[in-house]
Amino acid sequence: MRRLSPGARLVLATHNPGKVRELAEMLRPHGVEVLSAGTLGLPEPVEDAPDFVGNAQLKALAAARGSGLPSLADDSGFSAAALGGAPGVLSARWAGPSKDFDAAMARVHREMAGDDRRAWFTCALSLAWPDGATATFLGRVEGTVAWPPRGGQGFGYDPIFVPRGRSETYGEMDPAQKHATSHRARAMAQLRLSCFEPAT
Ligand code: IMP
Repeated sequence: MRRLSPGARLVLATHNPGKVRELAEMLRPHGVEVLSAGTLGLPEPVEDAPDFVGNAQLKALAAARGSGLPSLADDSGFSAAALGGAPGVLSARWAGPSKDFDAAMARVHREMAGDDRRAWFTCALSLAWPDGATATFLGRVEGTVAWPPRGGQGFGYDPIFVPRGRSETYGEMDPAQKHATSHRARAMAQLRLSCFEPAT
């Protein structure tokens, strides 16, 4: 598999500032030069694949072809067992065009019936090259839904997610603690091993 060396330029194929922040932090030890799709003025492709892997690949390929540089995309989402895995790939869409995650979290709470509080986050990370090669990795973290939302850290559904074995939500946790267990960190651990030179 092709690897990225320190100093290589890498596009983060996302317009979500929360993801840009987390991915850039995770990549810092590898010494790559990170550029964001927003800064380069790359358009956001329609995410019409049925699953996280398909959407991550199409976003990474669109950015790699648009920029001529290796590009990393994240497709991720929050799932509740009581909602049959929803919102899942529709996690961003549940917040609507105004990106109102308070409303999206309230909808999760409203539609959950019964005692089953199990939930999980999934993340697919896809690295694509301009010639169309891709490498894609999946990470998942299990936990429960908290209500009401707690904490101002992180983004999206973080204030209602308590990872297994902890009592705080991701919204209450220091970012470094979230990065130790998160779906994104787990997918990144595999990507690191396969596609980056060892961190210095
Ligand atoms: P997409 O991958 O662009 O479709 O958006 C994924 C959506 O899932 C984000 O907008 C968030 O709402 C949610 N999400 C993904 N990862 C996280 C996370 O680490 N914390 C909280 N919400 C997340």
